[in-house]
Amino acid sequence: MLPIPKPAQDAQSVFDACTATAKPLTARTKLQALKDTVAKAAAEYDTAATNRALHTLTHLQDQPDGKPKKLGGINEQLKKTYTNRMVHKKSPGRDVYDQLLAEAPDGRCALCGQGIADTLDHQLPKTHYPLLAVTPANLVPACRDCNFYKGEQAPASAEKQTLHPYYDGQVHEHVWLFARIVGPPTPAVSFCASPPPEMPPLLAARVRHHFTTLKLARLYNPQAGPELRYLSRSLRRLPTAAINEHLRERAADWTAIEGPNSWQAALYRALADNSWYTKHGYLEPWK
Ligand SMILES: [Zn+2]
Repeated sequence: MLPIPKPAQDAQSVFDACTATAKPLTARTKLQALKDTVAKAAAEYDTAATNRALHTLTHLQDQPDGKPKKLGGINEQLKKTYTNRMVHKKSPGRDVYDQLLAEAPDGRCALCGQGIADTLDHQLPKTHYPLLAVTPANLVPACRDCNFYKGEQAPASAEKQTLHPYYDGQVHEHVWLFARIVGPPTPAVSFCASPPPEMPPLLAARVRHHFTTLKLARLYNPQAGPELRYLSRSLRRLPTAAINEHLRERAADWTAIEGPNSWQAALYRALADNSWYTKHGYLEPWK
């Protein structure tokens, strides 16, 4: 997960801009009457996300008048506000959509750190939380795969929530991504999320949930392959005695550039710690 500063755009202003020209007039009137309700929901969202308690906002799934959630009606109009009045080209909210997308680090998905950010992911899905359909803090630049894997599941508990790029930057105060070097005889690498004991239990559970839900092991493995083949060639130019230090320097550099839980930092840490690799493994043909 790549941390991003929380959006500066005001939720009520964005909702107002998106709905101020909605048609027909009856729909516009109903939506505009909800400006304060949306602002209140956004404030509740901010508090809950800060306290890592987004799962407690189930009351926001009800209709704005407090009646139980149902399909159609005003909730459907709120949901469509995102698609029709924020995503759609030349729609009144498109500027905000583009601004939020532009915050993706190097244009990369904030959830996996690898894919191309070409959509906004609703951290609380708009199907269940229509009041938050165009709330900026609920919209994260993401790739299509992460958006698909997250799906439209409402978080069932505090532990069953993926990491939030606007609120969970603290997660990188701990090292929790590790690579495992397999060999001999056939060298290979795999990645796993293994939070340390000193990490707060809730954060540790969310790290595991994030890693599993977004299938990050499957995403990182193909990235590591070319890197290992490149290393096999470049390390041959170094004396064996210098390889360990070289790998540790690489690990430190990637930690400084991409953070301790980037697949690159995890890979180089694991390689430096593996005596078979530093003595012989680097000479093997890596898959
Ligand atoms: Zn992604």
